[in-house]
Amino acid sequence: MKKAMVVEDNKDNLKLISYALQRSGYEVIAAATGEEGLELALRERPCFIIMDINLPGIDGLETTRRIRSSERDRKLPIIAMTSFAMAGDRERIIAAGVDAYFEKPIDPLTIMEKIHEILRGRTDENSDS
Ligand code: MN
Repeated sequence: MKKAMVVEDNKDNLKLISYALQRSGYEVIAAATGEEGLELALRERPCFIIMDINLPGIDGLETTRRIRSSERDRKLPIIAMTSFAMAGDRERIIAAGVDAYFEKPIDPLTIMEKIHEILRGRTDENSDS
């Protein structure tokens, strides 16, 4: 079974996303902190990560940077979730190494569509190069 990882400290959101992922056939690896997410990402080798930005301890952007600095995880798709949309954040989020992001609240009916769209986009990019 393909593994997807979710880094999210909000239990309700985690449940919602996990349910959507499981329904689509993914095994879900969950982490509630960036530190835990970093460790699990390197150990469990998920095929993509859904990353909350606001986390206790190191935030989702710093977690992404640390995952990216690990050589073998450079191509791992990381999709961020953000609840704030302030000016300049887009650049800051993308600069951290995130591939794409969506804003909360999460809509369980469309979330998988969005995720698959992003993952397809990445596959196309990779096959071009
Ligand atoms: Mn959070």
